[in-house]
Amino acid sequence: MAAEILLKNARLIDGLRQQPLEHASILIKGDRIAAVEAGEIPPPPGAQIIDVAGKTVTPGLIDTHVHAVMIGDEGLKLFMANGITAVRDCGARLEVVMAVKQALQSGAKFGPRFYFCGPLLDGAQSSLPGASGALMTQNVPAPESIPGIVKPILEAGADSLKLYFGLTADLGAAIIRYADGRVPVTGHIGYMRASEAVKAGINGLEHISPSVFNDVCPAHLRFGAGTSMAGRQFVERLRAGWLAADLDAPDARALIDAMARREVAMGTTMNIHWLFRAGYEGAARDPDRKYIVPKILETRRQAAAAQNKLSDPDWDLYFSRLPQEVVDQERRALQKQQEFCRRLFEAGGLVVGGTDAAINYPPPGFSLMRELELLAEAIGAMNALRAVTSKAALALRKQADIGAVAPGRFADLLIVNGDPLTDITRMRNIATVIKGGISHDPQAILRELPVNPNYPGL
Ligand SMILES: [Zn+2]
Repeated sequence: MAAEILLKNARLIDGLRQQPLEHASILIKGDRIAAVEAGEIPPPPGAQIIDVAGKTVTPGLIDTHVHAVMIGDEGLKLFMANGITAVRDCGARLEVVMAVKQALQSGAKFGPRFYFCGPLLDGAQSSLPGASGALMTQNVPAPESIPGIVKPILEAGADSLKLYFGLTADLGAAIIRYADGRVPVTGHIGYMRASEAVKAGINGLEHISPSVFNDVCPAHLRFGAGTSMAGRQFVERLRAGWLAADLDAPDARALIDAMARREVAMGTTMNIHWLFRAGYEGAARDPDRKYIVPKILETRRQAAAAQNKLSDPDWDLYFSRLPQEVVDQERRALQKQQEFCRRLFEAGGLVVGGTDAAINYPPPGFSLMRELELLAEAIGAMNALRAVTSKAALALRKQADIGAVAPGRFADLLIVNGDPLTDITRMRNIATVIKGGISHDPQAILRELPVNPNYPGL
């Protein structure tokens, strides 16, 4: 058990209040927070006292959408180096995620608290082709097969269930009914419309871009049975749909109202689209590129080699450079998603900042830093921070344990240099990451990690 720690003179963003608390004291006993006061707490005998004047204390961050099987042990360390002290794995075969969880709990692996959904519950046919489909999805062919598939997932201790793209509305609703509120059900849906899922009682949606698509985009572009997520056509369809999306149309407004009323969490994952907005020059020089994890780098290397692109200086980022016209369209499509996020928030909705680490660039951990920047543009810095702390904990139903600097919760908190409310990128300047009362130096974690040999590629 860790000794008692008293943090004093903190500028505290506790995750719950809308304003920071100045000169706050936080007392940590063992792995939990014992007391939080505006002002002094008399130091208990033997307590370690840390004066954090000039710094900001925040809750440890939560990434509600990661894929541990894609990112290896290095990815788990990158979460901790970026202040992410809890994650939810959002889709992989049960035995794989359970092995990661056990290794983290026993200390065999170093990383954040780990919650999981188990496999992606897909329709009769797999929406995700190839090896990743085999690793991540579980087909649900008919309503009769639901108990045999879902019961073992719940019995294995899954913290959530995740519905996937190829489920029809009937099957999706039947799984939600079967879950019966025992764990939150979230979804990266496609054939089932978001409005149908909300009506059926879903608790969360993953990715603004595809999951609300059928309620906000023009009818002729909407997904239906047979729509494939593979290849360029799907990306082009998403782009065209979002460019033409009308958030004032009755369907879009009805969806936003229903999500807000039923407190359906919107996991935003906007950082996936950041590369397009940065453009080629911005992305090529991006310092985060240094830490693309070996497992993902190898996947990209193979893809680049297959297309004879390995001689390109930016093969780790791009398989082909996009014309400026497309970059501009992607940027406008992303603005529309930020606008959806803002409108949902202003309607009182539950905005949560998951990232989909690590299918896409940016690397794990750094992806949540990007998500925070995009969220702060949409709903302001304080609300962005709450979206990745207390609101994320609510979406996971783990608010008794994580998401706020408050008595009784785990002592998961960050000591940040300067004030992230005036500049959200200061969340990249974390001096100390505390998880369960144990302090870690983010720079020391980074120093131990392998560096992308293609950085800088220019
Ligand atoms: Zn995902």
